[in-house]
Amino acid sequence: MRITLVQGDITEQRADAIVNAANSSLLGGGGVDGAIHRRGGPEILAECRALRASAYDKGLPTGQAVATTAGRLPARWVIHTVGPVYSRSEDRSHLLASCYRASLGVAAELGAHTVAFPAISTGIYGWPLDDGARIALKTVRETPAPGIEEVSFVLFDATAYAEFDRALRGPGQAV
Ligand code: ADP
Repeated sequence: MRITLVQGDITEQRADAIVNAANSSLLGGGGVDGAIHRRGGPEILAECRALRASAYDKGLPTGQAVATTAGRLPARWVIHTVGPVYSRSEDRSHLLASCYRASLGVAAELGAHTVAFPAISTGIYGWPLDDGARIALKTVRETPAPGIEEVSFVLFDATAYAEFDRALRGPGQAV
């Protein structure tokens, strides 16, 4: 599996599946979630509502993932996952790792070959970028995902890109 970094907007990516840093309501929010629903159109929200009415009547639990159509986006599917809110007093990194693992599992089940991730939890949910990048890359590298050829991380700004780039090179590497 190839891992690539892109600086840009995930709603413009042509990956088979793009991952949404959703909240457990699945009914939309700010940040990347808002952008995906805005650009993807109402079909995505309609499928999210249907999921709420059936399998996820209490919402999608933190660390899990579920797919919908990508509506008008250039991707085929949106995989919604709920990242943990960062906490200084409690280690929630297993939940952040679980988002990446569960999303890759859903993508593999769908038959996706290419998957694009945002930096889950590093926006409104407050996760420090360096640690969020380290967990993202470590988890994706360690997760078997049959059929997935390329995973890209789509970083919205230069700071996030730099942190992922540093994490990709590994500890102790010059910048
Ligand atoms: P969370 O609630 O999981 O923190 P956010 O959407 O607030 O989710 O932020 C997650 C990351 O996505 C942040 O690094 C933010 O800068 C980034 N982001 C926001 N909009 C986009 C976008 N359109 N494409 C890619 N990344 C985005």
